[in-house]
Amino acid sequence: MSLDYLVRATALDGRVRAFALDASGVVRELQRRHQMYPVPTAAVGRTAMGALLLAAASLKKGDQVLTVEIRGGGPIGRILCTANGKGEVRGLASNPQVHAENVRPGKLNVAGVVGSEGYLSVTKDLGMRDSYRGTVELQTGEVGDDLAYYLSRSEQVPSAVGLGVFVVPDGAVEAAGGFLIQLLPGLKDAEIERIEKEVAALPHPTSLIRDGVRPEQVLARVFSNRVEILDSYPVRFGCPCSRERFESALITLGIEELTKIIEEEDKEYTELVCHFCNEAYHFAPADMDAILRSAAF
Ligand SMILES: [Zn+2]
Repeated sequence: MSLDYLVRATALDGRVRAFALDASGVVRELQRRHQMYPVPTAAVGRTAMGALLLAAASLKKGDQVLTVEIRGGGPIGRILCTANGKGEVRGLASNPQVHAENVRPGKLNVAGVVGSEGYLSVTKDLGMRDSYRGTVELQTGEVGDDLAYYLSRSEQVPSAVGLGVFVVPDGAVEAAGGFLIQLLPGLKDAEIERIEKEVAALPHPTSLIRDGVRPEQVLARVFSNRVEILDSYPVRFGCPCSRERFESALITLGIEELTKIIEEEDKEYTELVCHFCNEAYHFAPADMDAILRSAAF
């Protein structure tokens, strides 16, 4: 049972929007599915949490989807995380088993695997062919800073983003969480300064979560308890892949391709793996024949 959840809140008469989450279970699941080493776990975990926070801030409907993609030129390759409006997220990296030396004891070198020469882009699929894509240059490769830069630059909403994943020496994820604070028009300079000061004074998100500070308490700290929690909902790992989807994909390959696959296969079954979640789907020869027949019509 995962206790992960995300809270949505508002402060200063609605001129600030704030979000925070505990996604320890989500990051553990991402690590398990892709057998990620500690630093990639932190990098992908941060990106996945960022996608969940951005989805909470900008998607209106459950079936809308938002993807965060990071290419920083580092050894991890590309990071891709997709979240929907229902609190589900999936994610992967090209090279889940890479490492970079710690910056200092206990501090995973996320920028060391991500790299800092490249791009972060956010794609929103809002349904009805309505989609949006924004891209910014990476600033640090630490993910949180880069997402904040994206929001301020590309969406013109000054934002603070804190994301953290704590991995213990044996590689297990002990805690993962973060926050997103967005400043809307109408704030006075003094108010902005105060919020910036409070955010800067916050311990690292990972320390907070390890200390048992709940997401709503993180926001209460920033706004000296003057924060109104609007709602909260569970977040979880989720991939929309299914056997039926793979069947349909196979059918669209057409008779020629399918025949080739069937003739090449001398195994007991044809295996298809979803890159996003590493789930394997097996199709026995009889299944493949049925798919071939469907493709013929
Ligand atoms: Zn999948």
